[in-house]
Amino acid sequence: SESLQVGELAKKLNKETSEIIKKLMGLGIMATINQELDKEAIELIAADYDVEVEEEIIIDETEFENYEVVDDEKDMQVRPPVVTIMGHVDHGKTTLLDAIRNTKVTAGEAGGITQHIGAYQITNNGKVITFLDTPGHAAFTTMRARGAQVTDITILVVAADDGVMPQTVEAINHAKAAEVPIIVAVNKMDKEAANPDRVMQELTEHGLVSEAWGGDTIFVNVSAIKGDGIDDLLEMINLVSEVEELKANPNRTAIGTVIEAQLDKGRGSVATLLVQSGTLKVGDPIVVGHTFGRVRAMVNDLGRRVKSVGPSTPVEITGLNDVPQAGDQFMVFADEKKARQVGESRSKKQQDAQRKESSKLNLDDLFNQI
Ligand code: GDP
Ligand code: MG
Repeated sequence: SESLQVGELAKKLNKETSEIIKKLMGLGIMATINQELDKEAIELIAADYDVEVEEEIIIDETEFENYEVVDDEKDMQVRPPVVTIMGHVDHGKTTLLDAIRNTKVTAGEAGGITQHIGAYQITNNGKVITFLDTPGHAAFTTMRARGAQVTDITILVVAADDGVMPQTVEAINHAKAAEVPIIVAVNKMDKEAANPDRVMQELTEHGLVSEAWGGDTIFVNVSAIKGDGIDDLLEMINLVSEVEELKANPNRTAIGTVIEAQLDKGRGSVATLLVQSGTLKVGDPIVVGHTFGRVRAMVNDLGRRVKSVGPSTPVEITGLNDVPQAGDQFMVFADEKKARQVGESRSKKQQDAQRKESSKLNLDDLFNQI
């Protein structure tokens, strides 16, 4: 059959149902006795008892990608916010990201060679903030299309001399759809033509009403080029982050999302992962999208080798058998055999899907020619 209820699986394995439920919880799956388990969950549990599942296992990608993290409230600890910067082209996203990084990172981390890994962390008043510096819109759309949600707070950059433009509206829609709080950074305040009131007025039409006007959206005036207002902006991020009560359990096997990945001539598959819960360690057996392996080495945003990283931390890893995609989710397994089983199964499924897709394309080509 395609699936089994928890109780049925327990019977087949000759185990107590409560034991199976406990194991599932350990895997981040909240289950009751009558819950239908997908093949992946069945395989994971079976593998844990060294039982081979006989029939061919078809793993449902969506089950893996939409896994829910179930942790006990008592294990949850405050974690840094993950911030994405969005806005219209040329409104100053890159300049702002650089300004934040330069003012905060190099001061405290003298000698640290900053490295582009798609995300970085800074410390503001003792509190860590993680910034994604992959192009905001692309990251948002691909990740959300794949069911991943990595952003906690969106900074909407609007140039004070240009106002609301098409990609500003697009960014607002993305953030709203994802229910991510927005902080507006009104940029280029150093410019003569800067008109922050006009920006406020225009954003009101899109449901973002400034606190100054009785709404609940935080607006901060900045000049990314001069570095003005950056501290205020970071303070506001800390404030919103406190309100959101962002938490994760650092004491579990790591799960999270791929920020970016590519093939490196010398190092092979290189992937920047954002750890969303748990702690990722060198040597961990891991499944990343349809790839798998062991974490061979980890390098942080300062280009330093690290041995373990906790929640909300971006880190570049090597050791995967192939290159995963941005937005893929990853999961650490207790042993390498399990990681390999799940990884190979997912890889096979992906290849099958690709084969199907390409034969479909061939047919289409054929029809097009006729
Ligand atoms: P992005 O496309 O949103 O990443 O925008 P960029 O960061 O590349 O900035 C676009 C242009 O605006 C560049 O020429 C920047 O130097 C300029 N710029 C960015 N921020 C400011 C600012 O605060 N003041 C002024 N005057 N120019 C800015
Ligand atoms: Mg840019």
